[in-house]
Amino acid sequence: MTTHRPEETQPGDPTDTPPQEVRPPKDWAAGLPGIAHALVPALRGMSPTRTARLLLSMNHRDGFDCMSCAWPDPDRRKPAEFCENGAKAVTWEATPLVVEPSFWAEHPVSDLVTRTEHWLGQQGRLVEPVHKAAGSDHYVPVSWDEAFAIVADRLNGLDSPDQASFYTSGRTSNEAAFVYQLFVRAFGTNNLPDCSNMCHESTGAALGETIGVGKATITYDDFALADLIVIMGQNPGTNHPRMLTALEEAKENGASIVAVNPLPEAGLKRYKNPQTVRGLAGRGTELADQFLQIRLGGDMALLQAVSKRVLDAEAAAPGTVLDHEFLAAHTSGLDALRAHLADLDEDAVLAATGLASAEIDELAGRYLRAERVIVTWAMGLTQHAKAVPTIKEIVNLLLLRGNIGRPGAGASPIRGHSNVQGDRTMGIWEQMPDSFLDALDAEFGIASPRAHGLDAVATVEAMAAGRVRALVALGGNLVGAISDTGAAEEAVRRADLTVQISTKLNRSHAVVGREALILPTLGRTDIDRQASGEQMVSVEDTVCAVHASHGKVEPVAPGLLSEVSIVTRLARAVLGERPDGPGPIDWAAMERDYDVIREHIARVVPGCEDYNAKLRRPNGFRLPHGPRDSRTFPTADGRAHLTVNELAPVECPPGRLLLQTIRSHDQFNTTIYRRDDRYRGIKGGRAVVLVNPDDLVELGIADGSTVDVHGEYHDGVDRVLRGQRVVAYPTARGCAAAYFPEANVLVPLGATAETSRTPVSKAVVVRLEPA
Ligand code: SF4
Repeated sequence: MTTHRPEETQPGDPTDTPPQEVRPPKDWAAGLPGIAHALVPALRGMSPTRTARLLLSMNHRDGFDCMSCAWPDPDRRKPAEFCENGAKAVTWEATPLVVEPSFWAEHPVSDLVTRTEHWLGQQGRLVEPVHKAAGSDHYVPVSWDEAFAIVADRLNGLDSPDQASFYTSGRTSNEAAFVYQLFVRAFGTNNLPDCSNMCHESTGAALGETIGVGKATITYDDFALADLIVIMGQNPGTNHPRMLTALEEAKENGASIVAVNPLPEAGLKRYKNPQTVRGLAGRGTELADQFLQIRLGGDMALLQAVSKRVLDAEAAAPGTVLDHEFLAAHTSGLDALRAHLADLDEDAVLAATGLASAEIDELAGRYLRAERVIVTWAMGLTQHAKAVPTIKEIVNLLLLRGNIGRPGAGASPIRGHSNVQGDRTMGIWEQMPDSFLDALDAEFGIASPRAHGLDAVATVEAMAAGRVRALVALGGNLVGAISDTGAAEEAVRRADLTVQISTKLNRSHAVVGREALILPTLGRTDIDRQASGEQMVSVEDTVCAVHASHGKVEPVAPGLLSEVSIVTRLARAVLGERPDGPGPIDWAAMERDYDVIREHIARVVPGCEDYNAKLRRPNGFRLPHGPRDSRTFPTADGRAHLTVNELAPVECPPGRLLLQTIRSHDQFNTTIYRRDDRYRGIKGGRAVVLVNPDDLVELGIADGSTVDVHGEYHDGVDRVLRGQRVVAYPTARGCAAAYFPEANVLVPLGATAETSRTPVSKAVVVRLEPA
């Protein structure tokens, strides 16, 4: 085991401290520093052999899939097919540093709860099951059999299966996700919240309603064919860095790029590709041809204004602008949309967006000149109250000129966690359609519950109300990721039992129910051996491509179990004790050989027929997608829907700011690799609030001062993020930013997006007060 010990921080307030250094933000991403920041931590944290073995097999055909974001792989791979943040994720997971048995006696839960996410994650890999008894302050190592018996006893002791909720994170493989949802439904509930509830749920809702499929309508190759790529509410340089290579290729092929964002992110400006001479030694590639610095919550108004200009252009030159053939054959709602946008108030648009008419004209001009347009987005769009109608406006704009279902064009949500999309395909959803449940029941001889279950926010609300008494989490960090940290933590502590299936420690191991278990599991990088031999798993990326992932290094400890092993053994322990079922499900056969799971998947999950064979093709396979493949829209009437959405700009009273939560360049979701944010010039601490310098003058607040950030919401609760250093930053006027997950404390649990119920983390009304 490595002797490298983590940087120590004193216990106390688990939120971070202000930065030691603040410099001007960078205007380019990657380059040589990207290589250094990828390799130096890897070489420090792992041996050179382990580093080479892992990084060179990452995202390769016989290698493992990056456990970080869901960006797809090109068919033709380069030797180094990873980015800086992918390397950090691998280093984080594949560290040989382990949590020693003595750790649990030295660190009671009351100590863990005072530590930051950064400190918790640095303690190394979890290697033995541990149990905290009710009333105890300590986890104590237990055997696997003891751990499963405890969970079985507590789950079977509930009054109803609906008193338990089963969370899933986006790292989980398709195989583990499939057996997990099967176990949960055989147990008797649809309480299957997942991390998607907190990120792209709005995307699924909007695309599902309008085009019939809640997933991207493009493939990887479409980026290189596009004439125009509009990037909205997204920071690819940090959150899916290899996307910059695809954008660079598009630029080389003549595409123009428009970035729409409140923050001028380095990765939206210029990319120094570390795999090219020009990237290493030259200026790199200028990316955004136009940057629209939009006010938070202004995207729907912008999209409507562009669509109106498109319709006006058609009115001025009838028959020359819209794709009439496509619209007539495949869509509905054009007349209603035209009538609605005819009354669009330009002044209201300008107020909502903070943009000038000329800027919107320029974007509309680019859209009208382009034959093939991709609109791509991430959580800057999905975490607003009006996220679903905003994304429907993207669909409106694309449909007007037939930009769905043809090469180089389409809707491109970029998902943030490796297999979050695959987990949903495998049935991780609290409201899977009856067609899926019917197939599941027929395959396994069970009777799935049909009432919809609880999503992530509803699970926390139900725990607060005492209606959910047990929480099982297959990966992730629910209490760290969910909004309204104080309320969420109080809710979790009310539970009788919390169970975390994890690779490393995080906040969800420190904020627990009266009784708690940690079940350590293999990571993506670990070789997974079962009775039939080494196993592979499968994942689905953000453009519906499914492929295999093979662990590459020996597990850090002999007793670690894979997620599939843990879930199938848990199922046997829980369901085997029940007199009423669950029928003849052969869990042992599925654990022994994951091909058996995939045979079941092939018969249950639409699009996965012949799954084992298709997965063994060199690049796996692409799931069918009617709108993308054949302009077939699986909606009730077989048409794509242009929709009418009422503008509802976010109000912000005078003297207040709209705050969004953001991720630093040195973090992945709630995992904090380092306390720096290189591209934004912030070093050695995360307690910052970024504010436009003109707003600081107006508010009479000095750059560099320390403030408490108070959230203002109509429930009258004073939510406070304390001790933030004010950083004058070129964000949009009236808008501020602070880091996730620390700033989750400001987002009310009840503030969720219409329809999707995604937490509204991108437009929180706040006031700053001297600390
Ligand atoms: S772009 Fe995303 S998937 Fe690819 S290596 Fe980087 S973090 Fe991993």
